[in-house]
Order: sequence, then structure tokens, then C-alpha cells
Amino acid sequence: MIPTTVAGSLPKPDWLAEPEKLWAPWRLEGDELLEGQKKSALAWLRFQEEAGIDIVSDGEQFRKHFVHGFLEHIEGIDWQRITTMGIRNDRYDAQVPTVTQAVRRPLPVHVESAKFCRANTANRLKFTLPGPMTICDTIADAYYGDRPKMAMAFAELLNDEARELEAAGVDVIQFDEPAFNAFTKEAATWGVDCLNRAIDGLSCTTAVHICYGYGIQENIDWKKTLGNEWRQYEEFFPALNECNIQQVSLECAHSHVPLSLISLLPNKVVLVGAIDVASLEVETPEEVAATLRAALDFVDAERMVACTNCGLAPLPVAVAEGKLKALGAGAELLRQELGAG
Ligand code: ZN
Repeated sequence: MIPTTVAGSLPKPDWLAEPEKLWAPWRLEGDELLEGQKKSALAWLRFQEEAGIDIVSDGEQFRKHFVHGFLEHIEGIDWQRITTMGIRNDRYDAQVPTVTQAVRRPLPVHVESAKFCRANTANRLKFTLPGPMTICDTIADAYYGDRPKMAMAFAELLNDEARELEAAGVDVIQFDEPAFNAFTKEAATWGVDCLNRAIDGLSCTTAVHICYGYGIQENIDWKKTLGNEWRQYEEFFPALNECNIQQVSLECAHSHVPLSLISLLPNKVVLVGAIDVASLEVETPEEVAATLRAALDFVDAERMVACTNCGLAPLPVAVAEGKLKALGAGAELLRQELGAG
């Protein structure tokens, strides 16, 4: 009951990449880089096991960024043709590469790293992929002429990748869709359709992570304008509840999203974020248990997974380690309290 997992990313050690940055440049190259990524992923797998994390992740040690780590391997994108685009519904401008031809995935992207992780842990293994809508909000279109059409093209590529990850022994495939909170109406229609396409034919567990975004100043400023109660999810949760994705990952620690919105997801397993990724303060196990316990008013223990609010990548390594231990210990406290320890 109440297994534990992470939303996805974990910090990279300072010998591998510049610390505490979202887009940190690598500090190694070629074979040395790959060996370094493996060494770091292995260390995180061991750490998660010891911290009591049941469904472990590679911590995204093999990619620089959660979206571009996938897109770098996709054909049809012109990385020299940079377009300035208002992203997250014009919340901020970004310089993004441009799709100039039909997109293609000539080779698997994350399958080798998934195989490496599978060979090195007996725990259940999660792998994250960027969601189709979030990809399309991170890249300009000069080919499809229609956002949903381009998103569906990426959903097909993601599905091919996901099938190969499943065949490599991955137990949970999670799509990250932080763009859902910026395009709530579109999320409810083609956003959800694209997720269904991305998981078509999979028999492993499937998840979607949504959040309000971290680590980008414009986003932090936007969140200050939202008031105390953030109810954007209300607009697409009913549609999300009807889609075929099995799990939904939400930020619940120090969150302004009312926990009662979880009631709109009765068909889903809910990954309750009990670790604040915007604070350097390490939660106590009691605080983690309290966040999870509060969510129990809206989701049964049988449908709850204890998780982090979002990726831990921007945090110092020691802080992330402390938070993982607190997550493992906090979930265990609650299990004991519920008589299932
Ligand atoms: Zn997130």
C-alpha cells in the first residue's frame, strides 16, 4: 500500500554537469560522458533503493533537458532555424528550434539507458518522456500548420519509443505535460487525445505528470498572479479522468492547488507530491506523512502513490538525497499508521 516514486529528474553530480541548473552543460564528452552518466544513474538507483523508493528512475542522468533530450534525436527539426515564440500561452518568450519537415525517429532515444537501468535494479523502473502538447509548446511549426496535428505526429513517435521502453523492461512510462495548465481547454480535447495515442498498445503502467513549472523566473512571477487557490486543473480533470492513462502525478506539498480537485480523478491512481521542489528545506518524515494523510480525504490509500511535486534536478545533491529519504520514511510512517507497514 502507498508505494513511493519520484516525478522524474534528480540532480546531476558536479563532475557530470554544472550543478543546480535546468540546462546545465555537460562537463564530459564522448565515451567519458556516457560512462559518467551510467555511474551517476547507478548511484541514484542505489540511493533510491536504500531510501525506500519503490519505483525508481534513472533521474534523467542521460539527458540535458526533459524535452530537448528527446527532440535532439528526432529528424524534421531545424535546430539552426530559431524562432522566437511565446510559450506557455505567451507567459514568456523563448528561442526555439523549428519543425520544417515531417518528424521522424530514426533510432530509439532512451532505450539503451533504460536497458542499463533495468540490468541494475530489481525495483520497479519508471521512465519519463515529454508529453506531446509540451513538446509542441517548446518548438515552432513551419510544416504542419496546425498545433494538434503536429502534437499527434509527436504522439506517434512517442508511442514507438514507449513500446521499445516497455520491451526493455520499463514498468512505468510517464509523460510530462506541464503545458496542460497553460492550455486547459486544449488539454481537455486534443491534449488528452494525444496522450491516448502515445500510450496506444502499451501494457505497462502509464502516467502523466502535470505541474505549474519550476526553475524559470517568468513562471514563478506568473504563479504570484494566481491568488491563493489555483483551480486551472478543474477545466481538464474530467477529460483526463476519462482518458486511458492510469496515473496522474500532482504537486501537493505547499501547493496552492486545492487537494479537493483530486476528487475529479476517481478513475486514476494519484501520485501525491509530498516533496516541495521549490524549497531547500528538507521535509521531515512527519511532514511527508501529513501531506499524504491530507490527500487521503480525496483518494483511497489503494489508489495513492507517494511522490515528489516535480523533478528534483535543480536542487543541490545533498538536499535531494535528504528529500528522497524523507519521502521513503514518511510513506512508511503512514503505512504503519494505516496498519499496512
Ligand atoms: Zn513538474
